[in-house]
Amino acid sequence: MIKVNENYSKLKASYLFADIAKRVETFQVENPDKKIIKLGIGDVTKPLPEACVKAFHQGVDEMAKEETFRGYGPSGGYSFLREIISKEDFQKRGASISPDEIFVSDGSKCDTANFQELFALDLKIAIPDPVYPVYLDSNVMAGRTGTYENGRYQGIHYLECTKENNFLPEIPDTKLDLIYLCFPNNPIGTTAPKQYLKQWVDYARENKALILFDAAYEAFIRNDSPHSIFEIEGAKEVAVEFRSFSKVAGFTGTRCAVTVVPKECMIYNDNNEKISLHSLWGRRQNTKFNGVSYPVQKAAEAVYSEQGQIETRALISYYLKNTDIVTDAMDSLGFDYVGGGSSPYIWIDGGQRDSWEFFQFLLSEAAVVCTPGAGFGKCGDKYIRISAFNSHENVEEAMDRLKEAL
Ligand SMILES: *Cc1c(COP(=O)(O)O)cnc(C)c1O
Repeated sequence: MIKVNENYSKLKASYLFADIAKRVETFQVENPDKKIIKLGIGDVTKPLPEACVKAFHQGVDEMAKEETFRGYGPSGGYSFLREIISKEDFQKRGASISPDEIFVSDGSKCDTANFQELFALDLKIAIPDPVYPVYLDSNVMAGRTGTYENGRYQGIHYLECTKENNFLPEIPDTKLDLIYLCFPNNPIGTTAPKQYLKQWVDYARENKALILFDAAYEAFIRNDSPHSIFEIEGAKEVAVEFRSFSKVAGFTGTRCAVTVVPKECMIYNDNNEKISLHSLWGRRQNTKFNGVSYPVQKAAEAVYSEQGQIETRALISYYLKNTDIVTDAMDSLGFDYVGGGSSPYIWIDGGQRDSWEFFQFLLSEAAVVCTPGAGFGKCGDKYIRISAFNSHENVEEAMDRLKEAL
């Protein structure tokens, strides 16, 4: 008999986006004339930069000719891409990451989800609340948790992000083995100062722990927070970093990302002997992954060209202007919020309203869609997330409607 992996039955049925879609649909049916403005999704809205499109086309043309055709590429990515990433994203920031410590992939979602399979099942895991759900669900599927009760899985140490701790969770005073961090944060939109990240790196070194650092939004940073965990001294021994072209260059539908596993980074077997994490991830990728398509890697390389830099900077500035429009409106309306400015998300305290009430109020009274914070974890119960991925006109209109509705 073919039996199910029972861990899947522990997954909290995620009705969040289905729930939102249903409420939006009902509203539209009842109000056919209302133009709904969506500020809920975490997906970009602007097309690929011209420089990327051009390189993408050239890559396809090369695949069409016998002399330049390519079959399987290296599973870790072509060296032209790994070299430019190592130079531009790391060495220029004083982080000595070499090209062969960079693994090119088709997404940070799959890499952040897959990485846990290299580790034992009885690890102590720390996961932020609220959180990008992938870190949590992939560990549930692997069997690292008990059941789900009152907004919490047994067996997970939750790193609570609250107003009281300035949305930067305290460094634990217990021993944890695997720590997930994401800065700039999704869904909260906060960045982490160097001094704070240094505390985590020190903690990981003291406890022989590992940090999985998600830097998907690093290109949005406009303050002096580090763009990479590897800007912190000692981080190469205890951290892995995930980066993606999705948000920086509109690659959500094109698919290209990067995982950095430094060669110094060691994990341990039952005899307390060191195992190279770099070799282990390389072995895993060689077995389960056959690389990102050549034209896509050419398109990603073009992000680093002079034209590509101008165009991606303009894209990010465009979205960040939207966060200014939202935070200006929140300031004038007296709402408490964090985020924006150095990230595409704004995390807004609903005050008297809980997150679903606030969601419904925005929808019914302003025809604006946001994401209820409760969908990202228990600590999001009183919050909503507004995303900057839309046009200036729509964001301005959404804020005008909100002002009128209140
Ligand atoms: C969008 C996003 C990613 C990127 O995922 P891809 O699979 O590379 O598109 C990674 N982490 C977080 C937190 C994100 O919001």
